[in-house]
Amino acid sequence: MLSDIEIANAATLRPIRDVAAETLGIDEDHLVPYGHYKAKVDIGYLASLADRPMGRLILMTALSPTPPGEGKTTTTVGLTDALFGLGHKSMACLREPSMGPVFGMKGGAAGGGYSQVVPMTDINLHFTGDFAAIAAANNLLSALIDNHIHHGNELDIDVRSVTWKRVLDMNDRALRDTTVALGGYGNGFPRSEGFDIVVASELMAIFCLTESWGDLKRRIGDIVIGYNRAGNPVTARELDAHGAMSVLLRDALAPNLVQTLEGAPAFVHGGPFANIAHGCSSVMATRAGLRLADYVVTEAGFGADLGAEKFVDIKCRKSGLRPDLAVVVATVRALKYHGGVALADLGTEDLGAVERGMANLRRHLHNIRHVYGVRCVVAVNRFPTDTTAEIDKVVELVAAEGVQAYPATHFADGGAGALELAKGVLQALDEPSPYEFSFTYPDELPLTEKVEAVATKLYGARQVTWDSKARRRLQRFERDGFADLPVCIAKTQYSFSTDASLVGAPSGHELHVREVRLSAGAGFVVAVCGEIMTMPGLPRDPAARRIDLADDGTILGLS
Ligand code: ADP
Ligand code: MG
Repeated sequence: MLSDIEIANAATLRPIRDVAAETLGIDEDHLVPYGHYKAKVDIGYLASLADRPMGRLILMTALSPTPPGEGKTTTTVGLTDALFGLGHKSMACLREPSMGPVFGMKGGAAGGGYSQVVPMTDINLHFTGDFAAIAAANNLLSALIDNHIHHGNELDIDVRSVTWKRVLDMNDRALRDTTVALGGYGNGFPRSEGFDIVVASELMAIFCLTESWGDLKRRIGDIVIGYNRAGNPVTARELDAHGAMSVLLRDALAPNLVQTLEGAPAFVHGGPFANIAHGCSSVMATRAGLRLADYVVTEAGFGADLGAEKFVDIKCRKSGLRPDLAVVVATVRALKYHGGVALADLGTEDLGAVERGMANLRRHLHNIRHVYGVRCVVAVNRFPTDTTAEIDKVVELVAAEGVQAYPATHFADGGAGALELAKGVLQALDEPSPYEFSFTYPDELPLTEKVEAVATKLYGARQVTWDSKARRRLQRFERDGFADLPVCIAKTQYSFSTDASLVGAPSGHELHVREVRLSAGAGFVVAVCGEIMTMPGLPRDPAARRIDLADDGTILGLS
C-alpha cells in the first residue's frame, strides 16, 4: 500500500468552493479562500444560521492509546466518508495538527491511508495560519507584561508569580526554562520564564471554547497572568491586552473548511492537547457543522478517560453541545498491548491477550455509558496483521458488554470499508438512547472533590493525594472565585493511572496531584498528575530528518 503522503499527493482535489456549495450549500460569497483547496467560512454567515436545526453529534474516542496510535482521526474520516457515501449530509470536525509532533515522533494528524483530509501537507504545515495567530496573540500578552513591569509596574505585579509563558509551535526542549530581560537597564527586569508549545497554551483552549468575537475578548480579558504583591490575581484585562489580542485572532476564529479524499466536507479548526488542555477542536466549528450538516463526526484526543471526559465535562458543559452517540475506536493491537504483550510482538495472534486487554475497553465502555450517559458503538480499526479469529474475538467480547462492534477497513478501503460501521451508527441513532447525559460532577462541588470524582468514578483510583503546594494553590483559586470551574486533569494517556506502564484497567491506585494551574480565561483548573510536558522535546531520530522538498516542489516524507 502507498504511504499516507503518496496517497494524499496523488489525490485529485475539487475546488473548495464547489465542495462548500455542493455538500453544505455554502455560497462562494461566504467563503474566505486560502488558495483553491481550503477556505475559512465567514463568521457573520455562520451566525446567520443560528435558527437552523442542529444535526446529530457523533463523538470519536478510543480505548487507552498505545504508542503506535489507534486511528481515531482515520476513523473519523472513514465514518464521515461512509455516511457521505450513503447519501447523507455528513462532515468531520477535527483538530489542526501541531508542527511539534509533525517534525517529532508522531507525524501528521490528517488521518491515514484512504481516510484522510486533504490538502494533507497544508493541513500539517502552517495551514491557514491559525497557530501563528494564536502564538502572536499569546506572545503579545507576554510582551505587554514585561513592558508593564519595565515602565514602572503600576499593577505591582510580583515578577516571581507570572505564570503566563511565551509559546511557539515546535518541540524545543531548550526553551522549557529560560530567563528573559537580561542585558541591563534598557531590557527590563530579569525574570525566569519558559516557553510552551502553542497547543498546550491556555489561549489555544480559549480559542477552541469561544463562541463569538465578543466571547473571545471576554475570555482573553479573564486570563490571570500572575499575582500582584498583595497576592491578588492580575488579569489580561488590567493590562489592556484583550482588545489587541482579539484583533490578532479575529480572522483565525473562522473555521477552516477542507475535504476528505472522497470529497466530504471537514472543518479542521483549533488543536489543544488532550492532557494540559481539553483536546477537542473548536466549538465554533462543531456548532457550525451541526447547523450545516445532518451528521457531524468529531474526535476528542487520547482515550475516553481524557479527551472524551473533557469533551463532556469541559466542552459540553461550557457550550451546551451534547453528543448523540460515541464511537469507541479499538484495535486488536491495542487490546493485546493492554493484555500485556510487548510492542514488538503485537503482530502475532494472541486471543488470550485480546481477552485480557478487554479490561481496558470494558472500563471505557462503562464510563461512557454509565458516567457520561452516552450510548456507544465500537469501531474495530483493522490493521494488516490482525487475524480473523482476533477480530471475531473482539466483536464477541464487546457484544458481551451489550455493545455492538463493527470491524472496519477504511484505512485500506476508504469510506466503503466503514459502511457497516456507518449503518450501525445510523441504526443506533434511530433508537432513543437508554442513557441520560450527565457530567462527571456538578459545578458546585469543591475543586478537590471534582478531581476525586474523576479519579474514583473513571480511573478506578482509590484516592487522590496532593502536593501541599498544589493544595494551597487550589485554596487560593477557590478564594479568588474560581471554585465553580471544571477541572482538566493532565496525566499520561497510556494508563487509567499516572503510571504509563500500568496498562489494562488498574484499580485501587493513587492519583497524585503534583501541581495545579489556573486557566481562568478558558474556564478550567488544570490538575497536573505526574510528568506532563507543556514543551515536548524532539526524539533522537526526529521525523524532520525524513521530511524533504523535491526539486519539483513536492513535499516528501510526511506521515
Ligand atoms: P489517533 O487519531 O488515534 O492518534 P490516527 O488516526 O492519527 O490515530 O492514526 C495513527 C497512525 O496509525 C497514523 O499514522 C495512521 O496512518 C495509522 N493507521 C490508522 N489506522 C490504520 C490501519 N487500519 N492500518 C494501518 N495503519 C493505520
Ligand atoms: Mg488523532
